Amino acid sequence: KGFFQVPIAVNEEVKSYAPGSPEREAVAAAYKELFNAHTEVPMYINGKEVRTKNTQPITPPHDHKKVVGEFHLAEKTHIDQAIAGALEARTEWAELPWEQRAGIFLKAAELIAGPYRAKINAATMINQSKTIYQAEIDAACELIDFLRFNVQFMTDIYNEQPESTSGAWNRLEYRPLEGFIYAITPFNFTAIAANLPAACALMGNVVVWKPSDSQMLSAKVILDIFREAGVPDGVIQVVHGDPVMITDTVLASPDFSGLHFTGSTHVFKDVWKKIGENIHNYKTYPRIVGETGGKDFIVAHPTAPAKQVATAISRGAFEFQGQKCSAASRGYIPASSWEEIKELVIEDVKSFKMGSPEDMTNFITAVIHEGSFDRLAKYIDQAKEDANAEIIVGGGHDKKKGYFIEPTVIVTTDPNYTTMHTELFGPVMTIYVYEDKDWSEMLKLVDSTSEYALTGAILATDRYAIQEATKALKNAAGNFYINDKPTGAVVGQQPFGGARASGTNDKAGSALNLLRWVSPRMIKETF
Ligand code: GLU
Repeated sequence: KGFFQVPIAVNEEVKSYAPGSPEREAVAAAYKELFNAHTEVPMYINGKEVRTKNTQPITPPHDHKKVVGEFHLAEKTHIDQAIAGALEARTEWAELPWEQRAGIFLKAAELIAGPYRAKINAATMINQSKTIYQAEIDAACELIDFLRFNVQFMTDIYNEQPESTSGAWNRLEYRPLEGFIYAITPFNFTAIAANLPAACALMGNVVVWKPSDSQMLSAKVILDIFREAGVPDGVIQVVHGDPVMITDTVLASPDFSGLHFTGSTHVFKDVWKKIGENIHNYKTYPRIVGETGGKDFIVAHPTAPAKQVATAISRGAFEFQGQKCSAASRGYIPASSWEEIKELVIEDVKSFKMGSPEDMTNFITAVIHEGSFDRLAKYIDQAKEDANAEIIVGGGHDKKKGYFIEPTVIVTTDPNYTTMHTELFGPVMTIYVYEDKDWSEMLKLVDSTSEYALTGAILATDRYAIQEATKALKNAAGNFYINDKPTGAVVGQQPFGGARASGTNDKAGSALNLLRWVSPRMIKETF
C-alpha cells in the first residue's frame, strides 16, 4: 500500500448484446439515429469548436455512398493556435493536484460505461465498420479500462519513492514534460484513439491530438465525453486535416516535447526522421512512443489439437476483418495435422456472415476504405495467379456498396511468399505447411523472417515444444500467446506492444507507458 490511494481498477464487464437485451436495443437505436443524422465534426481549439470552409464527408465503409456527416480541415494557422493555446493551458493543468486530473478521467470512464456507451459503440460501428461485439470490447470496455487502470498506474508511479534516512528526505517529483505532446491516432481502435491523448493529459501534459480521418464519428464522441468530464480548455486540442502539413507545423515548434503514436510503420519512421531533422530547435529531447505494424504468427506443433488451432486461425485472423495490429496473418502448420485443420478452418470461415454491422448476426463487415480494399484485392488476385500459392477459402471482393473482402486463406509452398512477410492489414491469412521433422528449423525461420515483432502464438500440448518455441521466438513478439489466438490483449492483464518494426514497446495500458510522459525531479532536503 502506498501513500496515494485511488479506487481499485477492475475490468469493465463485456455486455452480451443477446437478442432482446436492453443494451442491444439501445445500440440499435443509437445506430439508427447517428446513421440518419448529419454529424458535423468541428475541430476543438482553446475550448471552441472551429469550423472552416474546407470539409470532408464521413461515409460508412460498408455503405460508402451514404454520407453521415462531415469534418472540418485545418489551415496552418489553426495548428499554430492549437499549439499556442495548449502551452497557455499548461501552466494551470500541470499545477493542478493529481487527484483532480484523475477525477476527470475516472468521470470520463463512468460516462462511457453509462450514458455514452450506446453512442460510442454506434459511432464505431458506423464509421469504422465494427460489429457490435468488436465495438463493445474496444470503444466501451478497453477504453474504460485504459482510463481506470491508468489512474491506478499513475499512483503506482507516484508511490515509487527512494529510501530516506534521518536528516535527509529524498523525494521524486514526477513532473509533466515541458512543452506539449503530439498524439497521432489510428482508425482501428476507438480505445487507442482516446487513450493516446488521455494518458498524456492524465500525467499533467497538454496535447495536440490528430485523430484518423477514418474515425471521425467516434473521435467526436470521445471529445464530447472529455468535455463533459471536465477536461479544461486547451488541454486536449483536436485538429484534423492534411497530415503532412499538421505534422510539419507541430514539429517546427521548439516546444514539441513528445510523440504518442499508433499507426503505420512508414509514417512513424517519417515522423521520427523529421523530429531528428529538427532536433537542434527543441528545448528538450522529445519522447517518442509508437506502436506500429505487425505480421503476427500462429505456430502450431504436431501435438496441438486441430480444433484449437483452427479456432485460433479463424478468430485471430478475421475478427474486425483482420484490421488489428495484433491479427494473425501468417501460420506455420505441421503436415501431419494440416488436412484436419484445413477442413475445420474452411468450415468455420464459410460460416461467417458478411454484411453491414447494423445486422448484428454479421461477423465480417467492410474494410476501412477504398485504398485498403484495392491493396487487399490486388494481393488476393495475385495469389490466384501464382503457382506457389493457393486460396483455400474466400478470395472474393466487391466494392459496389461497401468495401467487402471475403475472409481469405492462402496456402503457400514458399515460406518467403510475399504475403508471408508483407503486412496487409485485412482479412487475409497465409499458411505455410511444414514437415513435422523440421519443427526446430521452422522456428528459426519464423524468427528470421519476423521483421515485425508485435504478437505471436504457439499452440502445443508438449511442454518441451512450448519451451523451445518460447525461447526461439523470444524477440519475435512483444505479446506472446501460448495456446491462444494472438489478439485481444486486456488492459491491466496483458500490457500491449512490440519491438523491431512494430514499435518502441512502451506497453499501452501499463506504468511503463505513463513513465514516458513524466520527467522526474529528484529532491533532497536536509535538516
Ligand atoms: N490491443 C489489441 C489486441 O490485443 C490490438 C491493438 C492494435 O491493433 O493496435 O488485439
